Amino acid sequence: MKLRFHLFNLNFSMKTKLFFLFLVYTQCVFGQISLQNLKTENLINPIGTSIKNPRFSWQLVSEKRNSRQSTYEIEVRSGKNLVWSSGKIASETSVFNEYKGSPLQSNTKYTWQVRVSDNQNNTSPWATASFQTALLNNATDWKAAWISSGIKADTVNGIVPRFKRTFSSKKKVVSATAFITARGLYEAQINGKKIGDAFLTPGWTSYNKHLQYQTYDVSSLLNAGENNIDVLLGSGWYRTRLAWTNQQNIYGKETALLFQLEIKYQDGSSEIIKSDGSWKVSETTILASEIYNGEIQDSRKAETAATMAVERDYPKDYLTSAINEPIRKHEILKPIKVLISPKGETILDFGQNLVGWVKAKVNGVSGDKITFSHVEMLDKKGIPYFENLRSAKAQAIYYLKGGAETLEPHFTFFGFRYVKVEGIATINLADFEAIALYSDMTPTGTFECSNPLVNQLQKNIQWSQRGNFLDVPTDCPQRDERLGWTGDAEVFSRTAAYNFNVNQFFAKWLKDVAADQKPNGSVPFVVPDVLANTTMGLAIGAAGWSDASIIIPYNTFVAYGDKKVLETQYPSMKAYSNYVRKTAVNDLWNMGFQFADWLSYRVDDSKDVIGQRSAVTDNYLVAQCFYAYNTEIMIKTAKILGKTEDVADYESLLNRITKAFQVEYMTANGRLISNTQTAYILALQFDMIPENLRPEAVERLVENIKSYNYHLTTGFLGTPFLNPVLTRFGKNDVAFKLLLQETYPSWIYPIKAHGATTIWERWDSMKPDSSFQDPGMTSFNHYAYGAVGDWMYRTIAGIDTQEGDGAGYKSIKIQPQMGGGLTHSKGSLMTNYGSVVSSWKLVGQKLTLGVEIPANTSARVYFPTEKADSIFENGAKVSVDVENSIQVGSGKYSFEMEI
Ligand code: BGC
Repeated sequence: MKLRFHLFNLNFSMKTKLFFLFLVYTQCVFGQISLQNLKTENLINPIGTSIKNPRFSWQLVSEKRNSRQSTYEIEVRSGKNLVWSSGKIASETSVFNEYKGSPLQSNTKYTWQVRVSDNQNNTSPWATASFQTALLNNATDWKAAWISSGIKADTVNGIVPRFKRTFSSKKKVVSATAFITARGLYEAQINGKKIGDAFLTPGWTSYNKHLQYQTYDVSSLLNAGENNIDVLLGSGWYRTRLAWTNQQNIYGKETALLFQLEIKYQDGSSEIIKSDGSWKVSETTILASEIYNGEIQDSRKAETAATMAVERDYPKDYLTSAINEPIRKHEILKPIKVLISPKGETILDFGQNLVGWVKAKVNGVSGDKITFSHVEMLDKKGIPYFENLRSAKAQAIYYLKGGAETLEPHFTFFGFRYVKVEGIATINLADFEAIALYSDMTPTGTFECSNPLVNQLQKNIQWSQRGNFLDVPTDCPQRDERLGWTGDAEVFSRTAAYNFNVNQFFAKWLKDVAADQKPNGSVPFVVPDVLANTTMGLAIGAAGWSDASIIIPYNTFVAYGDKKVLETQYPSMKAYSNYVRKTAVNDLWNMGFQFADWLSYRVDDSKDVIGQRSAVTDNYLVAQCFYAYNTEIMIKTAKILGKTEDVADYESLLNRITKAFQVEYMTANGRLISNTQTAYILALQFDMIPENLRPEAVERLVENIKSYNYHLTTGFLGTPFLNPVLTRFGKNDVAFKLLLQETYPSWIYPIKAHGATTIWERWDSMKPDSSFQDPGMTSFNHYAYGAVGDWMYRTIAGIDTQEGDGAGYKSIKIQPQMGGGLTHSKGSLMTNYGSVVSSWKLVGQKLTLGVEIPANTSARVYFPTEKADSIFENGAKVSVDVENSIQVGSGKYSFEMEI
């Protein structure tokens, strides 16, 4: 009674009240479980699915502990027609359930519903979601023609044209769907309103192999009567210069648009408005647009009289519907202050190194020229530092028509914290905002602890991921590079999967990894492979870089349990593995070019001398360890995919690789030919050293770290495994010392000494004396060294997944480990099953550990105490089994113990 009284006194609308009552009712009738986060192919209600058998996922929500799904039932409908009913299936699978109904039709909306029952006799109410298919048959579904502007000035650094078409629709519209892509970048509008909220579309793929198109529901944009479509077409990655080699027009000289709008009317009729020779084209106020240099706009310019678009017969068979989240606008940052440099330059400081652009409100006189020049850093005198951009101009230039104007670029992006402003006499901070643009991956992870510097490190890692996950995983976002460097993505991939959901992001990029793979199986250093025609484009593979083709699919599987990524990539993985095998002589990969432990510590890097010697690890020792790493993944993958013969083959190969390593790079007593941290880390991580010699190798590693006064000296390939190896071999104290080390070289040094807000390319991109490293290669936004984030989540917060059948957090591992004087930590991760939380607090000797395990999963919780009989949960004593751990089902737990 009390509840009812309370409800009806609330000022809710009638609908809300009814809905609430319905929920209360369903809880009573159906029991204590419900479903949430329904996804089709990893996306919520996607539009433009082209997968023949899309996979459905949902999360089970239950207040009760130990809840597991015991049955599920899916129904898929097109309108009222049932196209598939799974029937009641006895299964725990709640992630990636494949559609098995009749073939899906193009451009059709399907709704699906699911209900489940659990092991406690509860049944959930039906939960509903939808997906809309894309154009499933390129040859027959695409009616539109490719069109180009035919304007002479429309060249790589020339004007940006606008394509226009008017049509009238007098009948009542039921639905309108637009399918759009470009050879170049497009921004489309209907009746002056932007289609969708994505930018830099269609994104970047290996354009010569496949091109993604986007699908939009534009029903709400159409007018009854006259409608105007207009589309801007920028050069983008398609034809602006890419890489430092000054190559332009890599994919083609001419941009082109493909646009198809399918309208369904209430009277059952339909209409297609498509790009063709009847479209008009005009020049616009955008004079030039380039990825590295930026954009130039002149709003004085009247859009020229229209000419006719020219039809082109570019292929359509290579079109694929986008499978990943597009680039969208995210954080909007106001400048925190305006600075005047010693040279008198006006500089806006946005307080955060980010990737995107500046939007500004201005009020000027016709002909005023305003220039925004973007930089990441100021030098020690406070002068903007342009040198590390190399040849990238990174400018937005605007000529004003006079009066109030809002300025914003379209087809470029910048990596910056500071903006030098020219042409505006009085700066009003409120007129400016920096907009962060990046792939719209769902944020999944949070990590914090009692040390503010480590929290800042975590923020920096996440900002570097935002800045460099721009449809393609890039090395850096500011200089004339911004490429899909495979090695960088490889070392960061596990960390990336904690911070954001990168399942589709990587699935899309991995298709290009396979597409750009060379006939001999080697994998390019950058994907999309824009170095193919340069000296770097040789058909060779490099350890840790080309290995991304094996490591990233596997890491994606581990994080999400997505077996399809492995199935799809397996031929590519195998081809690369074979390439390495063929290159190796007597099972030793000791041929050819290697980046190896790229950017490890060098004495001459800095005047600050912490060590006596540069930390250079033998290139081929590194390669051999990665050869083992790859092969181990091939074994695991072949097992998951049931390729029994391959398993045996890879197992014997791994055996030989390890033996060859021991003969070539190790003495009989386990000393390695390179006395570096990376050598010992990799050899220990990949079990290259016989078990009986490992303890001594660990001691040598620790001795080495001590000899540098507890500083790391690792490069790209050693760094991700540094702390994990120390933890694995019981040297957590050393791992924490490295994490918390505040002087160069260390993770915290850039933060403590220079207030870094992103991860740097080098340990000393800015040196202790505030001078810069070699401007030829000094980025302040490079995520590779942020790979320590994986260890922070896994070891400090203690959230991890089992592999194999337990991958994707079906079987969770909670194993927090204390150290470094930290008094609390909390990590959370939104997995495919729901949220996993691990948080601990230490007061004196008393430790509280809070754990949250989502329904339909289970976890093994390892207690970080030696005093097994001091562990209590809700006042009841906990009895532990192996390694001081217990197995728990879903639910929330709060453990207390003494340590
Ligand atoms: C990139 C790297 C990349 C490296 C390999 C650099 O220019 O920025 O991060 O992995 O080249 O040589």
